[in-house]
Amino acid sequence: MSDSSPKLIGRLAIIGAGLIGSSIAWAARQRGVAEDIAVADASLSVCDRVLELGFADTVSTDPRQAAAEADLVIFCAPVGANASIIQAIAPQLKAGSIVSDVGSVKSAVVSAVLPHLPPGVHFIPAHPVAGTEFSGPDAGFAELFDNRWCILTPPEGADPAAVSLMQDFWSRIGSRVEIMSPGHHDLVLAITSHVPHLIAYNIVGTAADLEAVTQTEVIKFSAGGFRDFTRIAASDPTMWRDIFLNNKEAVLEMLGRFNEDLAALQRMIRWGDGDGLFELFTRTRAIRRGIIEQGQETPAADFGRRGPSSSKTQ
Ligand code: NAP
Repeated sequence: MSDSSPKLIGRLAIIGAGLIGSSIAWAARQRGVAEDIAVADASLSVCDRVLELGFADTVSTDPRQAAAEADLVIFCAPVGANASIIQAIAPQLKAGSIVSDVGSVKSAVVSAVLPHLPPGVHFIPAHPVAGTEFSGPDAGFAELFDNRWCILTPPEGADPAAVSLMQDFWSRIGSRVEIMSPGHHDLVLAITSHVPHLIAYNIVGTAADLEAVTQTEVIKFSAGGFRDFTRIAASDPTMWRDIFLNNKEAVLEMLGRFNEDLAALQRMIRWGDGDGLFELFTRTRAIRRGIIEQGQETPAADFGRRGPSSSKTQ
């Protein structure tokens, strides 16, 4: 599908050509959102692969080259790299341009980027709540953001025209857009994404360390729920390290609450409180139904996560 409506922006620069960066580029190209797409990635082999895949007009290992003359620069590297990227490209940014990102945490990104932003350049952080457990330029596909939420967290006093352009940008590449403060974003995502990942990393780690059950048995009998955790626990280690280091407070707060509820469940099992267990499991089942009804999940066996072209390297 290619879009013939007028281009929203001139040059789109993407710094970091992994799953998210390449998906934005594919979607922007397919839906005619930008005049041209400049990509930068720290890794030469990624740059070579971007050229082969053909979703960028220019590719460089130097973020300054991509940022020069760009109307919109989106940071798509792991969150921990944002401070050094903004420092490198700041002198290149043209007045009136917009800097954005896709980081899974927002308060830390605002603190890292805002102090280095040149005057006249807008900063409108974003978080597309969409992804797979795969990484790298081959993992991207144009449909990744279709019907998925993208949360914008504009700092106080942000230019309304820049916010509106970012809303249009994400809508044009398929997303539903919501605006919230960085702090609220971090709290919401701590419970909906970060703590669930931590639990998955923990349960898979515990199973791997068990002495009474062999690793072969863990793999052989994984269908009983464990397999779904392994999908989450296969997520990119650099990205998730950065998320936990940069959303420490919200994650610890939600973990405190989680531990209390886990202790309550432990008590129900110990005292044979079947009614309590049944009541909780009925409520949790209704939440899953709500997610499916709102189109944020499919009942399909692969959870509807793989786009048509995403299976090529996975
Ligand atoms: P990814 O597939 O690992 O891609 C990141 C790319 O950035 C890699 O090619 C990496 O190169 C490159 N990179 C690292 N440091 C860089 C730097 N200083 N300058 C330029 N490029 C650099 O990661 P991703 O899944 O796309 O995630 C990227 C961002 O999206 C993260 O901030 C994450 O929080 C956010 N996000 C991810 C998801 C998800 O499900 N994956 C969802 C929403 C948001 P090397 O491989 O050589 O290090």
